[in-house]
Amino acid sequence: MMQRRGTEASQRYEARRQREDESPRLQAEVPALESLKLEIEERRGDARNPETTYIRRIVVPSAPALFALMCGERDCEDGGHDITYPIMASLRRGQTTFEGEDVCHGSVRTTTCGRVLHYKATATYRS
Ligand SMILES: [Zn+2]
Repeated sequence: MMQRRGTEASQRYEARRQREDESPRLQAEVPALESLKLEIEERRGDARNPETTYIRRIVVPSAPALFALMCGERDCEDGGHDITYPIMASLRRGQTTFEGEDVCHGSVRTTTCGRVLHYKATATYRS
């Protein structure tokens, strides 16, 4: 059983790495982008206050055009937050600040995870 879990985890890691390698580069997709910072807040679906907050600074020259964040719930299976589409859409429009939310659709034991991720992005562009 432990063996199987370990294999699944490494397969997931491998799939994730492959996806990052195959993604176009962020800089190629949005050539004018100079910097990008994401302020992330995570809370359980039924909670008011965030449980986790952190800032992620994106290394624009080398980052893939892929924003798939892990779910913060330890027991969550197949969850996570793929916010690639809304973020890329805002960057292509040249927006300097934008925010959004994503609900985790993974499962925790017998129920849906439902953890909510809120992001606030700050971007700068070369003129
Ligand atoms: Zn989750």
